[in-house]
Amino acid sequence: MRQFFPIFEHYPDLVYLDSAATTQKPRIVIEAERYFYEWQNANVHRSIYPLAATATAAYEDTREKTRAFLNAREAREIIFTRGTTESANLVAQSYAGERLEEGDALLISAMEHHSNLIPWQQVCLRKKARLLVIPVNRDGTLDMSRIPELLRKNRVKLLAISHISNTLGTINPISDIIALAHQHGTPVFVDAAQSAASMRLDVQALDVDFLAFSSHKMFGPTGVGVLYGKSELLETMPPWQYGGEMIRDVTFEHTVFAPLPQKFEAGTPNIAGVVAFSAALEFIAGLDREKITGQSRALLDYATDELNRIPGLTIIGQAREKAGILSFTLADAHPHDIATILSEQQICIRAGHHCTQPLLDFLDLPGTARASFSVYNTEADVVRLVKGVREVLRLMGD
Ligand SMILES: *Cc1c(COP(=O)(O)O)cnc(C)c1O
Repeated sequence: MRQFFPIFEHYPDLVYLDSAATTQKPRIVIEAERYFYEWQNANVHRSIYPLAATATAAYEDTREKTRAFLNAREAREIIFTRGTTESANLVAQSYAGERLEEGDALLISAMEHHSNLIPWQQVCLRKKARLLVIPVNRDGTLDMSRIPELLRKNRVKLLAISHISNTLGTINPISDIIALAHQHGTPVFVDAAQSAASMRLDVQALDVDFLAFSSHKMFGPTGVGVLYGKSELLETMPPWQYGGEMIRDVTFEHTVFAPLPQKFEAGTPNIAGVVAFSAALEFIAGLDREKITGQSRALLDYATDELNRIPGLTIIGQAREKAGILSFTLADAHPHDIATILSEQQICIRAGHHCTQPLLDFLDLPGTARASFSVYNTEADVVRLVKGVREVLRLMGD
């Protein structure tokens, strides 16, 4: 796999264990972006000369590919955004912001990324609504037993939940959660930022109402994200940003907005990024998903076993259903010191609260060190990681 990623040619000794923050990019994605600028560059949806038609076709072709990737019913249910963060803000403002009344509630979980927390928190504050939180068990799983009661006793207008926790690696049973929420008439927003690269997402089978993810965590460029929404919900939502591209007819007094999906894509989008995202989807389609999932599970298990042998090391997040994300603490070592010492050995991990500060407060931890795996990682990377962590321990003992 490493041969598809030019960065490993430039840094042969690099041990990249931070794919939960962003994945490396395969050559076909880098080439696709370059090809667009060299051969197809024009603005979309505006002009009739051939170059503009080509650019528009490439952009809309990616929308169709994304529809197929998610098995959505219609391409107009796919909105391009800047990322998961922007997708959540769109729904928070245009859906929750329109529907919340004083005393209503939104429901999230204790393991949410700040991106799937602050947009809901702020709209609740503005609307005098309450933000309710599904607790997390000590092992890093969701306390599912609390969900029915939370839904029954409150007027919950939306449940927003991550598919995979970027800090704990927990894979949440979103299918069950969606079914539960729907029993109470509550729509669900799924943050699929950590799952889109590795798990099959079928929005019709899940019956999910909204789902969001970021291109850059699935081998695509930065600055491109997706919001899927059921058309019947998106139709009822007002635009959240105004400008070019999203209109049908404008006077000084009045504007008629464009239909879906343009209604939610004001201004010139990241055209080259969207077109290159297409190549990322092709890259994923070319992977043997079952083999990759098996390999990443094997790497996770191997790393877990090896790290568990290190005295003073504690793995944070012990769910049985877990993705290739491994958070740990090491005796009294500050996570930033662990990351610094590892970085001197060309090992890239992340240290800190991973944009989940309330979760770490809840677990009573200042932060963790986090290694995350993707398709280009090998057993040799795990060996280097474990050796590096032992070195941290040795240096601290001195
Ligand atoms: C990375 C991440 C986000 C935010 O994604 P952006 O690309 O920064 O917008 C949200 N939720 C989870 C679980 C993430 O891992």
